[in-house]
Amino acid sequence: MRRAGIVLLLAAAVTAVGQTPGASERTIGDFANVPEPPTNTLIRCGALIDGRTEQPRKNIDIVLKGTKIVEVRPAAYDQLMSAGTKVIDLSNRTCLPGLIDVHTHVLLQGDITAEDYDRQLLKWSPEYRTILGTQSARKALEYGFTTIRDLETEGAGYADVDIKKAVNAGVIPGPRMQVATRSLDVTGAYPLLGYAPNVPVPHGVQVCDGAEGCRKAVREQIMYGADWIKVYSDRSYYIDPNPPAGVAPLPVLNDIPTFTLDELRAIVDEAHRQRHKVASHATAYNGVHNSVEAGIDTIEHGDYISDADLTLMIQKGTYLVPTLYVGEYVAEGRAKAGAPVWLEMVKISADTFRRALKAGVKIAFGTDAGGFDWNINPAVEFALRVKYGQIPAEALRSATVTASELLGMQKDIGTIEAGKLADIVAVKGNPLEDITVLEHVDFVMKGGVVFKGGR
Ligand SMILES: [Zn+2]
Repeated sequence: MRRAGIVLLLAAAVTAVGQTPGASERTIGDFANVPEPPTNTLIRCGALIDGRTEQPRKNIDIVLKGTKIVEVRPAAYDQLMSAGTKVIDLSNRTCLPGLIDVHTHVLLQGDITAEDYDRQLLKWSPEYRTILGTQSARKALEYGFTTIRDLETEGAGYADVDIKKAVNAGVIPGPRMQVATRSLDVTGAYPLLGYAPNVPVPHGVQVCDGAEGCRKAVREQIMYGADWIKVYSDRSYYIDPNPPAGVAPLPVLNDIPTFTLDELRAIVDEAHRQRHKVASHATAYNGVHNSVEAGIDTIEHGDYISDADLTLMIQKGTYLVPTLYVGEYVAEGRAKAGAPVWLEMVKISADTFRRALKAGVKIAFGTDAGGFDWNINPAVEFALRVKYGQIPAEALRSATVTASELLGMQKDIGTIEAGKLADIVAVKGNPLEDITVLEHVDFVMKGGVVFKGGR
């Protein structure tokens, strides 16, 4: 018994990141509110961007069986359909793969200022925050994001694991999720901060110190359901008046690094040893440099990355997940609250984005939704990426194919082709001509189940 148990647990850990939850994983079916997919469905698309070829194809039928795509073919109106086939007419729409946002916080409801953040941790119970989190998950799905990587709960413990569980069980509507649980930072680096030493306050992360202490924290988070480990590798950003010799380009956005390189290496080693990946909040010079050096898998934000570190990222295959919209969203509020560097950072991050594009770094689509209000559609990020130099086809690819690869889910999602899960969205117009149409997704299907439009 004991041995069998260990083998099963190991199998679960190995598949955790790449798993593809679907209807078959429902274990508490009595409580399921989300319907099972119909057996046979045909979607008639006016145009299809399948994620494999560059140009949209006109008049395409997508044939589904249950949760999966079985055939993609030119529309044939006289084709025999098996009895009971549900037909969804999107002949005046462009169909595309379900969008993927690899940086969200369903348990956070906007935090421009420290007060916004502290209120959520001090005055809202984790239970209340979880209720709001289920709403955020539903909003993400209805915006067209059929898969998200939720990058930490900001003090709400392991509630993301439970939201993911409820989505997979069909209890609530929501996207496929990979979750990071509590995230890691060192003592004194992450809010809540600024309270009297004799007043115990909650933290937005799990605090760990020293290589062995952090290794243990990684083990704990994986034990309780983390698919990803997230670390905060820098804080306290400033334009460096005395930049380190040889670092280009200028000006250098610098920081106080949180973890030592030794600590970061231990975290990465432990996570990778258990077949899990590591995301690093790294905004400025030291944070990015130490993260890439330590072998982290994804750089989040990356507002300033030196030319040398861009080269290192290409060599190591490190992904960059820029978050341009949230930077602009919080800049003014944080400047008013006494940190004008956030206004400078808007310019610096746009410049870094252009350099990363030019250098050929792998760029995935993430938004930091939750860092801004969930009533704002995170797809606003697309327009900024195009504004700062990405062509629309690349921007879309970053939220489909590239994001699926980052998640290790490319066998199941990211393109529309036979054998993949039926995660399909549709819009009026052509996103390759006007990327902002992605802010108006009006049909959403996840795993063969329609969640918006098309009924
Ligand atoms: Zn974030």
